[in-house]
Amino acid sequence: NQDIAPGTMTYRQLGATELMLSMVGFGASPLGDVFGAVEPQEALRAVNLAIDEGINFFDVSPYYGRTLAEERLGWALEGRREKIILATKCGRYGTDSFDFSSKGIRNGIEASLKRLRTDHVDLLQAHDVEFGDVSQIVEETVPAMRRLQEEGKARYIGITGYPLLSLIAIAKAVPVDSILSYCHYNLMIDDLNSILISFAEERSIGVINASPLHMGVLTDGGAPDWHPAPAEVHEAAKKAATLCRERGADLPELALQFSFSYPKVASTLVGMSSTEDVRRSLRAAMSPPDRDLLQRIQELFSPVSNHVWPSGNART
Ligand code: NAD
Repeated sequence: NQDIAPGTMTYRQLGATELMLSMVGFGASPLGDVFGAVEPQEALRAVNLAIDEGINFFDVSPYYGRTLAEERLGWALEGRREKIILATKCGRYGTDSFDFSSKGIRNGIEASLKRLRTDHVDLLQAHDVEFGDVSQIVEETVPAMRRLQEEGKARYIGITGYPLLSLIAIAKAVPVDSILSYCHYNLMIDDLNSILISFAEERSIGVINASPLHMGVLTDGGAPDWHPAPAEVHEAAKKAATLCRERGADLPELALQFSFSYPKVASTLVGMSSTEDVRRSLRAAMSPPDRDLLQRIQELFSPVSNHVWPSGNART
């Protein structure tokens, strides 16, 4: 991976692709109101501030808010699309609504491109592959995405999901350009490093790390109701937030600093929807974590750390 750093932002190559992603990525799922209602004008300001400050990687999906996040992101990017690296997804459209068929993938990207107001995305990802049938993903979904790449509708293609072994099984069976993993590298868990990274490096597959705040657990307000982690995880995070406050520190900032300082991923995607979120992410990216506080929090989390939950058809 090659690093270039104009201003304060660092850019890293996504695997063997030509894409140089900002180390801080803009996760656009909150634009679909999945963490609470978003004020559209504020979301517009957040997207523009992020671009002005060097964040060039934006990730969205038709699943987030059932197309609302894509609609809002497309609107916010009007006139600035060419400045950024845009990733969306296909195959997942609702909590229980999946279509990994070749026809579904084609219809999915056509509709996404309209909402995003563009003629191509830079990265098209099969969304949450552990919910699909492995042979269909390998023999039908990924080949359909490669055809869309040949047609210029996507510059590169990848897969996303939660169970690392499901992602690895698919990437072993069919070449992909990138893997997006979430909730596997942050203050509460770090098995990404031992399970996925060397596999991806051997094959020059780019890795994107999502959810450095463990999908809201590591924020002061806590996680939304749909969060899959058990109560002990949320309780430990509340204790950690209090401990940080007592020390004049901020748990989300520490969590972001921890994830941003991991160099083996091309980008860390933070879910953002306000200028305050963007500013706090940028501040965290500019300084390393306080080692002493980090150790205290890691000790506090040790009884609940590396907890994983079931997802899709996978066992872990
Ligand atoms: P996250 O861990 O980034 O947490 C997001 C929450 O933290 C939001 O409520 C946000 O408002 C809040 N937040 C952001 N910055 C903050 C700060 N500095 N201080 C306090 N609170 C802050 O979780 P996420 O949004 O789920 O993950 C990031 C992105 O990664 C998503 O938006 C999405 O683009 C991607 N993602 C993809 C998948 C997948 O493909 N299956 C899964 C999860 C995430």
